[in-house]
Amino acid sequence: MSKEIRVRFAPSPTGFLHIGGARTALYNWAYAQRLGGTFILRIEDTDQERSTPENTAQIVSSLKWLGLTWDEGPEMGGAFGPYIQSERAPLYSEVLEQLKQTQKVYPCFCTPELLNEKREIAQAEKRYTGYDRSCRDLSEAEVEQLTLAGTPHVWRLKLPLERESVDFEDAVFGPISVPMSQLDDFIILRTDGTPTYNYVVCVDDVLMQISHVIRGDDHLSNTPKQIMVYEAMGAPLPVFAHLSMILGSDGKRLSKRHGATSVDTYEQEGFLSDALFNYLALLGWSLDGQTTLMSRELITTHFSLDRISKNPAVFDPEKLAWMNQVYLKEMGAAAFVAAWEPYLLSDGLATSEEIANRQSWFESVYPLVVERIHTLSEVNEKVSYLLSGNYVELDEKSQEKCLQTEEGGRVLQACLSLLSNQELSWNTASIESALRTLPEQLGLKPKVVFQTIRVAISGNMVSLPLFESMELIGKEACLARIERVSSR
Ligand code: GLU
Repeated sequence: MSKEIRVRFAPSPTGFLHIGGARTALYNWAYAQRLGGTFILRIEDTDQERSTPENTAQIVSSLKWLGLTWDEGPEMGGAFGPYIQSERAPLYSEVLEQLKQTQKVYPCFCTPELLNEKREIAQAEKRYTGYDRSCRDLSEAEVEQLTLAGTPHVWRLKLPLERESVDFEDAVFGPISVPMSQLDDFIILRTDGTPTYNYVVCVDDVLMQISHVIRGDDHLSNTPKQIMVYEAMGAPLPVFAHLSMILGSDGKRLSKRHGATSVDTYEQEGFLSDALFNYLALLGWSLDGQTTLMSRELITTHFSLDRISKNPAVFDPEKLAWMNQVYLKEMGAAAFVAAWEPYLLSDGLATSEEIANRQSWFESVYPLVVERIHTLSEVNEKVSYLLSGNYVELDEKSQEKCLQTEEGGRVLQACLSLLSNQELSWNTASIESALRTLPEQLGLKPKVVFQTIRVAISGNMVSLPLFESMELIGKEACLARIERVSSR
């Protein structure tokens, strides 16, 4: 029987969920989905100074927004909890007690000053600077005497000296071998009684029965040490799969310098969860080397570790924006209005009641605007003139160029009399065919005529399609806008 698949995402809540972390979470999630495994969320808040509950809350909310829900973890519970490291202290002590009993660890009484001194000498002599194991062979009596005297001490892992190297097969990077001479008997419990990171990660992964450790390659160098902890605990190794880092367009590690890196910023800017999900999936994994647009279902039915690339992926904001537009175009009018609503509310352009009462009006905006935006946060600026009633704010330059001219005045007058006609039914086609007679009638170029009307209606030389806009704004408001500018 094959072993149960249990994977975990283990963020440190020292900041919000960033693109790299989200990609790690997604790969773990997709792997569990594909194989019917369990996806666990574990909060690694051992760095008490930099970890905050706000960051944890934000990580949780970003994961949910991306649809990366977990089977075990905060809010969900599970049989292997607690799922927050700061609540697991008794478990770390318990495992340490076992390691003491099996003599896999030993206390070290060397002072930081002494260790520093030794390190400096080793550095000067170009020798390995790791711990020289001087406390490893203290006699029981010596240990007892020092302990009774209350001498501060740490606990170190007793590495097997007979061994030559630590070898493992990384599912992405292939076989890795690190000579034991590069490892020392590292500390697992500090003088102040707090356990170290490399120790607690292993205790958690062993106790939570993690089968696959899929994480960023910044942890590749920790892996040999962690393997030593697994072995000391007598636990089987999980499969390790390290993910290459994500780079910015300049080839440097993705950071704030490259623009937004946190998932919540993308959410606020109006990226769609499905689009970001699709884009993240491609940052290091591919279905067949060419397919770009993929639903969650397609990704989860095909996700496998052997198609993860060990070459670093480059984060391309333009490609993400393009992909978001594709998803916006595919989502349909009703879903668009629902996604747009929070932006309408926060800019005070409409209330929920107005949106509900005029659902089809709001839906008609969708085909006009969707070709012209990449994110939802760009919508309001493009459409606010449709919602401003009898008044529209005029862009100064557009006004000067198109309205305050002799031709402009003539266009506005002629336009007013055409549109006030009671016979004219107020829809895009009729408005267009009425106005199309104007250039000839006035002996002016169509461009001059329609730019003038566009500025009077939208306040600007650039707007959504003119006749459709006029239908949506309504007859009364259009006439009021034209009258207002023509009487100036
Ligand atoms: N807490 C670690 C981090 O945020 C992850 C550790 C792991 O996945 O093993 O980088």
